Amino acid sequence: MIFESIVPPIDIPGVDIPTHFLASAKANGAAPETPAFVDIGSQATLTYGELDKMHDRIASGLVNNLGIHKGDVVMIFAPNSIFYAPAYFGIIAAGAVCCTASSMYNAPEIAYQLNDCKAKAVFVGKAQGEIVIQAIEQGLVDMPYHNVITFGDIFPGYLYRGLHEILSDEPYNRLRITTKEEAASTLAVIVYSSGTTGRPKGVMLSHYNLTQYILPSYHIDTFLRAIQDFKIQYAVTVPSILAQIVKHPNLGRYDLSSVKSLSCGAASLTKNIEERASWLLPVSVNQGYGLSETSGGITLMTDHMHIPGSVGFMVPNGQVKFVDENGTELGVSQEGELWVRSSQVMMGYLNCPEENAQVFDKDGFLRTGDIGYINETGHIFITDRIKELIKYKGMQVSAIELEDILMTHEAVEDAAVIGVYDHQRETEVPMAYVVLAGNVDRADKCMVPKVCMEIQVFVAAKVAGHKQLRGGVRSIRAIPRNASGKILRRELKTRHAAVTGA
Ligand code: ATP
Ligand code: MG
Repeated sequence: MIFESIVPPIDIPGVDIPTHFLASAKANGAAPETPAFVDIGSQATLTYGELDKMHDRIASGLVNNLGIHKGDVVMIFAPNSIFYAPAYFGIIAAGAVCCTASSMYNAPEIAYQLNDCKAKAVFVGKAQGEIVIQAIEQGLVDMPYHNVITFGDIFPGYLYRGLHEILSDEPYNRLRITTKEEAASTLAVIVYSSGTTGRPKGVMLSHYNLTQYILPSYHIDTFLRAIQDFKIQYAVTVPSILAQIVKHPNLGRYDLSSVKSLSCGAASLTKNIEERASWLLPVSVNQGYGLSETSGGITLMTDHMHIPGSVGFMVPNGQVKFVDENGTELGVSQEGELWVRSSQVMMGYLNCPEENAQVFDKDGFLRTGDIGYINETGHIFITDRIKELIKYKGMQVSAIELEDILMTHEAVEDAAVIGVYDHQRETEVPMAYVVLAGNVDRADKCMVPKVCMEIQVFVAAKVAGHKQLRGGVRSIRAIPRNASGKILRRELKTRHAAVTGA
């Protein structure tokens, strides 16, 4: 059964992204002197007028000073700053393709991505510039130093260039899109998926696919202080941030009363954290769900349709179906793999013909690899990820379900469950890594094994036999997570193997 979005369809204009962004801002009442972005750290502001001028000068600079052609790829490898948006729109206005990269990558990781998308130039933050130079010096990347452009200060002797050195006022052939067909067939952005389940894949997004794509990074106290000082009304979080907020020992010190809407996405949010957030914060948490492949969020939740645990309903123009292992379409409240079709779904993966043939069905639905169901009111629930299920003697065990239970134990600050191979039982078994609450961990180191054992017994009392943590419970200082808060299970498995010699 195919479920249509319960929201009326909307007409998506055939227009290029920079023009669309600036026109929508103006239509929503933004004047040229209205701040578009504020950097919480340096307090620097970029107005809409400055954004308009600067992205145009960057585009001209890319064409006239760097020789960038239509369709060339230019990367941004930098943390969020007020330069991010002008560079992003500048690249696209020049007719080039913008490829974004996690600012936490090391030299081999960034080299892989620069080579995979064949980037001609790269904008960098200060620390990231050093990493690209390392990659070039080690022969991992073949790029002239002066095509590395930093947003940071530039000192004598630096091999790469400062942003102001490339800005230009010379005329250039600005990209203009005026039809839907052109918008849908013109590549605007390549984002790489998080690499949670395999190597990161280059996701090709057209002008039509996109609204705006932001990957924020947080520090918990800066984040809370910013909400208080700037009287933030719309706050966007990920589950690991929300967990830090609700478990913050001094949460009461911050005035968060300005918040009117609080959203959370990117990974599954445990029931326990969602409930605590709704007690402690002025508004309830609206979850959203999406993939790189769907240009970001594909579901949304509103306050008046809020149901705890749900990621909301499909965005307009979207269709969803749930399918079992045999490819049979399921009905209401039946759990299966979520397949989605929408104007937001990517053009395809870059240089991956086999994956592209596999990931779309004949009707253009994208297989998400996520498991969930839809209820009679059109609310969607995400329950699992196919690749994260643990197989105990042929029975499926959900790591997420076990983490949910672990998080309700008072001694557990954070938790991750992985499947490890048990040679005696000749099967994969679930085991948990937990971060113990500070007071337990500090009180007496000898207590740790005892508390871990207690936690294992605590879980055993709450789940069926096949779901028990037969691999045990171990304490760890921090659960490895990526920038958006996803548990890096592969990394945890590698660490586990190194520690246990398994
Ligand atoms: P890769 O595809 O490279 O293995 P990834 O799928 O983690 O990595 P992203 O595209 O960043 O990379 O993340 C999309 C995935 O994030 C979804 O497939 C889903 O598993 C998970 N996700 C996103 N939002 C939610 C949510 N609200 N609840 C549960 N899971 C979510
Ligand atoms: Mg994925």
